[in-house]
Amino acid sequence: MIMLLGLLGPGATGVWAAGRPPPRRARVPVTVPALLARAQPLRDRRLLPPPVQMEHVNTHARLLLRPDTRQGGFSAAQMRQLMNFLRCHHTQKRWPIDARLAHILYTAARHYQGAKIYVISGYRAPQVAREKGNPNSPHRRGVACDFRLEGVPLESLRDYLRRTFPYTGVGYYPNAGFVHVDVGRRHSAYWVDLSGPGERARYAATQPPPGPQRDPLPQLEEVPTDRSPHDG
Ligand SMILES: [Zn+2]
Repeated sequence: MIMLLGLLGPGATGVWAAGRPPPRRARVPVTVPALLARAQPLRDRRLLPPPVQMEHVNTHARLLLRPDTRQGGFSAAQMRQLMNFLRCHHTQKRWPIDARLAHILYTAARHYQGAKIYVISGYRAPQVAREKGNPNSPHRRGVACDFRLEGVPLESLRDYLRRTFPYTGVGYYPNAGFVHVDVGRRHSAYWVDLSGPGERARYAATQPPPGPQRDPLPQLEEVPTDRSPHDG
C-alpha cells in the first residue's frame, strides 16, 4: 500500500521509508490559466495530423509515422525511429532517412485515407546494393523506399506519386508487388521492372506503363538515361 501511495502521491519521484508520514502535497491554486496550461499539450496533440501505420514485411517491425512538429514536419526523435525502422534488413545497418522521403510516404498514405504502409525495402547497405547489381542504388543513401499501401492498387499509387511529387524516381514493379520512390533527383524518372520478388531487374521497354490510356503528366520529365540508379 505504501508503494501504491508512493506512486500516486505528489512525491512520486521520491521514496520515503515505511512509518514516516508522506510528504505534504504542495498547494497549487487551480486557476483557469493553470487548467489551460495543463490542457495545452493534449490540445496540441489533437491538432497534429493523424498517425499512419507502417509495417516492414521483411523485419515485421511496426512504426506509427506522424508529423510531430508545428510546421508539419518530423521531429529528430521521429526521424531516428524511422531510421531504425527502415534499416537494411540484410545487415541491420542504419542510415539517416531523407526527410522528404518521410514526407512523401506519409502524404501518400494520407491521400488514401490513411492506408497502412507496407515497406519491402528502405535503406540498403552498400555491399548489399553491390550484390544486387546496382552499386549506385539510391537505397544506399537513405533516399529510397519500396512499398505498397494496403488496399490501394499499385497502378493508382504509381500514378499518384508521379503526378504529385516532382524530382522523384518512381519505379513500378507489378510482379514483385510494390512501387519504388526516391527523392533528390534533378529530373523525375520513371521505369517499369517486370522482375519478381528477389529477382534481378528486368526492365520493360515500353513507356508509358501499360493500362488504360491516361492524360499525359506534363510536370514530369521522363529521362530514360537516368533510370539506372535503382535496383528495385
Ligand atoms: Zn527500390
